[in-house]
Amino acid sequence: MIVYGPVPSRRLGQSIGINNIPPKTCSYSCIYCQLGKTDKMQIKRQEFYKPEVIFNEAKLKMEQLKNQNKHADYFSFVPDGEPTLDINLGYEIDMLKQFGIKIAVITNASLLWMESVKNDLMKADWVSVSIDATDNDTWHKIDRPHGALNNKDILNGIIEFSKMYKGTLVTETMLVDGINDDEDCIKYISKQLSLINPSKAYLLVPTRPPAENNVQRAAKDRVLSAYKIIKDMSGTDVECITGDEKEEGFFFTEAVADDLLSIASVHPVREEIVDELLKKRNADKAVINQLVKEGKLLEFSYEGKKFYRKNIKNI
Ligand code: SF4
Repeated sequence: MIVYGPVPSRRLGQSIGINNIPPKTCSYSCIYCQLGKTDKMQIKRQEFYKPEVIFNEAKLKMEQLKNQNKHADYFSFVPDGEPTLDINLGYEIDMLKQFGIKIAVITNASLLWMESVKNDLMKADWVSVSIDATDNDTWHKIDRPHGALNNKDILNGIIEFSKMYKGTLVTETMLVDGINDDEDCIKYISKQLSLINPSKAYLLVPTRPPAENNVQRAAKDRVLSAYKIIKDMSGTDVECITGDEKEEGFFFTEAVADDLLSIASVHPVREEIVDELLKKRNADKAVINQLVKEGKLLEFSYEGKKFYRKNIKNI
């Protein structure tokens, strides 16, 4: 399933996810990635799925929503890897626009030095670019980029894109304890933000099980300090996202198992949210237990809470 949800998004309301990249195909292997380590590291753009297949799934999803009197605010490209690796991204955005819903893309920005990527993203209504660090050492430590990528080219690509782009551009910075939460690193990021002038800079912390066990969220005082430094130095509107997702608004079709696997592939889901959703759909926990037994769903503990994540090695 490429099209899933809608899921409640903290920034985009009810968001229909478009998973246009196969599991863990990415140009980065971020230490905090909630999908685990990157299996297929690449920077070459290619076709992964036929755009028509994505369009047809989106059409079906829209029909389901209509029948259930539900609505969606966005189609969001937020896949199991880096969405701009999809060479058809621009064409897919054009096709999805027919449904009259805004389009969002959440990208790590690593390919924004390519003209074709800039042109594709120009078509979206809302674009989020990651800026976890601007100095070379920290960038390597936290994002573990593909060897052919150049940090300066990426940072310049983001600046160029920001000058051309007419939609809503936001940035996101994942703050990891002891890696990119020190004052110097945040000041470098602030300088870059003052050149980009985003609508908003989001500061996040890992709230779901990360790729590396020793990765911890930045402490509250560090997040607060980063908030102040960025606001003061760059004049950017800053928002911190440090809580867990809201459970209201998740949308499950009758195929509870399929929907859960689809959502859990991109967002590990907390146990109590799964329980609540099953209750709403009059479904039994046996569905989940069976998926775990079959190895399709993995159980994880993070910060004392149980999570479920799709086993991308068993699909
Ligand atoms: S967090 Fe995003 S950019 Fe980083 S490895 Fe995971 S999918 Fe790639």
